[in-house]
Amino acid sequence: MKSPLHLAKAHDLPAIGIEPMREGTDGEQLVSALGELRASTRSLAVMLDTCTKCGNCAEQCHSYLGTEDPFNIPAARADLMRRVYKRHFTAGGKVLGGFTGARDVDGETIERWLTYFYQCNECRRCAVFCPFGIDTAEITIAARHILSRLGIVPKFMQGIAANLQATGNNMGIGKPALLDSARFLEEEMKEETGLDIRIPVDEPGSDILYVPSSADFFTNVDTIIGAAKVFHVLGANWTVSSSALEAANFGLLFNLSIMRQHGQRLAAAAQAVGASMVVHGECGHGWRAARMCAEGAEGPAPFRLVHVLEYVCDSLSRLPLRKLPLRVTLHDPCNYARAGGIVEQPRAILRACVEEFVEMSPNGRENFCCGGGSGLLMDEMLDVRLRLGKKKAEQVAAVGQLDYLAIPCSICKAQLPPVMKHYGMPALEMGGVIDLVGKALNLGGNRT
Ligand code: SF4
Ligand code: SF4
Repeated sequence: MKSPLHLAKAHDLPAIGIEPMREGTDGEQLVSALGELRASTRSLAVMLDTCTKCGNCAEQCHSYLGTEDPFNIPAARADLMRRVYKRHFTAGGKVLGGFTGARDVDGETIERWLTYFYQCNECRRCAVFCPFGIDTAEITIAARHILSRLGIVPKFMQGIAANLQATGNNMGIGKPALLDSARFLEEEMKEETGLDIRIPVDEPGSDILYVPSSADFFTNVDTIIGAAKVFHVLGANWTVSSSALEAANFGLLFNLSIMRQHGQRLAAAAQAVGASMVVHGECGHGWRAARMCAEGAEGPAPFRLVHVLEYVCDSLSRLPLRKLPLRVTLHDPCNYARAGGIVEQPRAILRACVEEFVEMSPNGRENFCCGGGSGLLMDEMLDVRLRLGKKKAEQVAAVGQLDYLAIPCSICKAQLPPVMKHYGMPALEMGGVIDLVGKALNLGGNRT
């Protein structure tokens, strides 16, 4: 299944500090970038040295199950890099070449990397079932980073990265638009509750910097409203930052230098308002990247980093929650359950907020991906990502009648509505976990 991305290699990369692909790019740059990563990331070499082709991973990958393309089997995907690695970095591959599976780089290699490393959601489910823990998501991250070093980056990623550079958020929201939206949402909450619940922006002397998804201010507004109500009830001294309004970090998905830049942007914003705690909003891969940056090579961050689901879970005894009359199931975002240490917290919160919480199967660390993660939300990829969402639609259908599907990640919130529609699911309300907390809070106002 050829990727539509082969037409979308590079346009305005200089704006984000990446050199566009040169005419006549051959394998030399690719091999050199792979050599650098191999030297700096020992685990990459171990994973490339290890696969026994046992086949365990094939049936565990929703990308292969949805597309039935053999190149989407995790081991086959990893082999796209493994062959080049063997040819240039192992004694056997250098001497015996193709007999060991080694292969030189040619135009087809680059085309296949672009196609199949952009049909991997970096969900890590294959790693859970591989007897050696081979993590094809890490191989995909490395491959995309290498492609970006060659100047090959899908247009969607370029646009997001350019917005991040200019405004600090994916949607390109400037401070005036942010202030307008925050005031509008405050008025909505006043009308609903009769209370003055604030969404502070760039407030100096704040204890907490809240980093939402920028989409929460325009598309997923119930999520930021839920967070604002929680902070209000707890009497928290908090703010959002107009220069770092984005939990998502697309750098993780195509270029690790850009990931680190966004990590530094969040750290600078926390320092600017004096926050000792950064509370990260509902974004899966953003949470994974934030933890990598906060615990990364530049040393531990000078603030405590917590996810909003951890923050709310730890505060449950202080939140006046009533149970909403709903039957709810939870989709575990991959980057929470398999890369972010968040499995029990959303369950504890949902049990406190709704009358009936039911699990889908499998769940937690073994949950299937929504099919939209790792930056595949681009329009060109719609056909592919609908196929990648097939397993998730089957899981939700198997739960039976539902009132609400909890999907506490911005990417899942954009991916799952079209997936459910595509697979003929009945209309179903979907949204964040924090959205439900906001609705379940008894605020003591004259209208709640
Ligand atoms: S499960 Fe692991 S060892 Fe087996 S084929 Fe897949 S990646 Fe290779
Ligand atoms: S990380 Fe997920 S999408 Fe990628 S190969 Fe593994 S199971 Fe498939």
